[in-house]
Amino acid sequence: MTGTDLSFSVGAEAATALDAADPLATFRHEFHLPEGPDGSPQIYLAGNSLGAVPRAAAGYVNAELERWARLGAAGHFAGEEAWVPYHELLTGSLGRLVGGRPSEVVAMNSLTVNLHLLMVSFYDPTPARHKVLIEAGAFPSDHFAVESQIRQRGHEPAGSLVLARPRAGEEALRRDDLLALIATHGAELALVLLPGVQYYTGQVLPMTEITAAAHGVGARVGFDLAHAVGNVPLALHDWDVDFAIWCSYKYLNGGPGGVGGAFVHERYAGDRSLPKLLGWWGHRAETRFEMGTVFDPAPTVESWQLSNPPILAMAPLRASLDVFDRAGGMVPLRAKSEQQIQYLDFLLAEVIGDRIETITPTMPAERGCQHSLRVREPGLDGRAVHQALQQAGVACDWRSPDVIRVAPVPLYNTFADIRRFVDILDSALHDAAR
Ligand SMILES: *Cc1c(COP(=O)(O)O)cnc(C)c1O
Repeated sequence: MTGTDLSFSVGAEAATALDAADPLATFRHEFHLPEGPDGSPQIYLAGNSLGAVPRAAAGYVNAELERWARLGAAGHFAGEEAWVPYHELLTGSLGRLVGGRPSEVVAMNSLTVNLHLLMVSFYDPTPARHKVLIEAGAFPSDHFAVESQIRQRGHEPAGSLVLARPRAGEEALRRDDLLALIATHGAELALVLLPGVQYYTGQVLPMTEITAAAHGVGARVGFDLAHAVGNVPLALHDWDVDFAIWCSYKYLNGGPGGVGGAFVHERYAGDRSLPKLLGWWGHRAETRFEMGTVFDPAPTVESWQLSNPPILAMAPLRASLDVFDRAGGMVPLRAKSEQQIQYLDFLLAEVIGDRIETITPTMPAERGCQHSLRVREPGLDGRAVHQALQQAGVACDWRSPDVIRVAPVPLYNTFADIRRFVDILDSALHDAAR
C-alpha cells in the first residue's frame, strides 16, 4: 500500500475492494463499536474524541479487580502485574508510539496536569527571557495552563504570552510564519508550546523544524500530542524535543478520563537544577519504601511522577497498546491512514463538491486522519447537518464555531465506513437544503 495508489472510484464496490486488500482489516474486530439507531454498528468517526473500547479491555480491568480481591495489599508487590511497577508495563509501547526511549516516557496523571508539571520544570523565566509562544487557537485547557503558569512565575500574559495566528482568511499556521515568530521573539523566548496535531483543523505542525528553530534562539520546546499520538508517526527523541504530554482517551483508546502520558528528553533525566514538583513516586523505586525524607530522584522521566498510579485506568490502556503493537505500530497504520485520507478526499470531491470545504491542509505531511469540514452551502446551518449525521448513525463531533470533525481511524474504521459516511453526508445536505 502506498500513498500514491489513487485507483479510487465512487461506487461501493471500490470500498469493498479496498477493505479486502487491507492487511489491517481484522483489527476492527478487536473493538466494540457503539450501535446506531438500526442496531448495526455506528459509523464511528469520533476516535479523535474518544477512541473505541478494545474488546480485551474488560479482561485487563477484571484481572486487576480479581487480584485486588485475592491479594489485597499484597497485590502491590506480588507477581508480574504488581501494582508498584505497573506503569512500566505501558512504557515500551508508548515509547514506540512517540519515538521515545524507555527512560523518556511515562504514563501518569492526565494531560493538563502533566502540562503543568512539565512547565514548572521547562518554563523557568528570567527577567530577560520570559515569553511563551502558543497558538491563538490553542485548546482552551492549554491556554489556561500557560496563562496561569506565567502568572505563577511573576509575569503577566499581556507581556509574556506570544500568540501565533494563521494569516487572515487562512486556517492553518504557516511554517515560515512560525519560524519567523520564533526568531522575532528570540532572546526573550523561554518556551515554545505547540500541538503536534491541531485539534480544530487537524493540521500536523512541522515539529522537527519548530524544535530546531526554538533551540536556535535558546528556547525550550514542548508539544501537546493529544491529537498526534496514535495518529501520526512521532520521533521525539530524534527530533530533540525537550518535553511532550498527551492523553490516552483519543487515538490511544484508553477510555474516558484515561491516564495521560509524558516525555522528557533523556538529557534532563539527571538534571537536578530543574525546578520540579516532588512526590514519593518520583523517588528512586529501590529505596522509596524506606520512607526517608531526602529526595533521591528516579534516574528517568519517572522522577516527575507524584502519586502511586491509577491501576484501574491503566489496565484498559494496556489492552489497546497491545493492539497497536500487534498491528505493527505507526508505520503500517499510517500507510492505511493515508490511503483512507485520500479516499475520503476523493469521495468528498466527487460526491459532495463545493457544498463542503475541508479546512484541514491538503498535503499528506501536514495532516493526520481528522478531516475538519465546514458547510459552505449558503443558508445551510452546519449544526443541523451535524445533527442529521448523528441521527443517521454517524458518530462525529461539532466544534464551535463551525466545524464538523470526522476521523477515520485505521485500527477500526473501514473504507466502507468512509463510503457510507459520504453517502449520508450527501443526503444530510440535501435534506437540510429543503
Ligand atoms: C483533548 C485535549 C486536552 C484535554 O485535556 P485533559 O487534561 O485530558 O482533560 C487538552 N489539550 C488538547 C490540545 C486536547 O486536544
